[in-house]
Amino acid sequence: EEDKLQRILDQVADAAFATADKGRVADYIPELAAVDPDQFAIAVARPGHPTLTAGRAQKAFSIQSVSKVFTLAVALGKLGDRLWNRVGREPSGQAFDSVILLEQEKGRPRNPFINAGAIVTTDAVLEGSEPKEALAAILRFVREAAGDDAIHINDSVAQSEIATGHRNFALAHYLLSHGNLQHPPELTLGTYFHQCAIEMNCAQLADAGLFLTACDGAPRMVSPSRIRRINALMMTCGHYDGSGDYAYRVGLPGKSGVGGGILTIAPGIASIAVWAPGLNRYGNSKLGTEAMQRLTDLTGWSVFGAA
Ligand code: GLN
Repeated sequence: EEDKLQRILDQVADAAFATADKGRVADYIPELAAVDPDQFAIAVARPGHPTLTAGRAQKAFSIQSVSKVFTLAVALGKLGDRLWNRVGREPSGQAFDSVILLEQEKGRPRNPFINAGAIVTTDAVLEGSEPKEALAAILRFVREAAGDDAIHINDSVAQSEIATGHRNFALAHYLLSHGNLQHPPELTLGTYFHQCAIEMNCAQLADAGLFLTACDGAPRMVSPSRIRRINALMMTCGHYDGSGDYAYRVGLPGKSGVGGGILTIAPGIASIAVWAPGLNRYGNSKLGTEAMQRLTDLTGWSVFGAA
């Protein structure tokens, strides 16, 4: 059983390393533009089992938008369903940083995983807290979920985005103009950029996702009904305008980040992290998506059936 899964991971990693087209690293964040695209890692965490890995699973990377899952959990814990007054639960069919629907829909972002929606979600976590406390609450949640207090924020990545993140500033100002931002844009975005700059390696990220598997023995960070709903949002919105494609290929809820990481949940089975810095046209990890497709083909873990 253990050996069989390890062989599958080795096979998936070999296929990734052998793929010629590795995609393109995100270059709009200067600190990420410098990452070598020729890297791959995968990790599978299950309660009561050692976390299995293949590739460079100890190499830390910038989790970027994968952080939006943890911030959503923190925001729901703090506000409950009140969060949905400010952000929707529908896929956007637009790029992660798109401004188009925000104009059409009067400052209410479609979902918490596109940038506009994540900025609102972070703004909600800031309600009644100092920025330092809010960021600490998010980092504390991640560390507790992963069972690893060494997880940290890379400040140069955050500063790199503060200096260049004009589109996110535009989104924040647009939200503010519609009364859907409760703090000054610099303040909310400072928190948002730092949350995106959390670094983890694949093994840590897989462990951090265990709470969403609802497996016996997984950390109990949120209620079962909330787990179900976060997974639904990951399935429908976790890969932006590539969410349908990810569901088609992989058949599991997942959340990507422009650092090339993807966290995927096989409900009741496992939490899987994959990392390859090159991105596809949706801004999701190219080799990561292909590896996850191979993994669900070989394991039968898709929620839509094993064949
Ligand atoms: N910090 C990045 C941004 O706001 C996150 C985007 C992503 O990972 N898709 O642009």
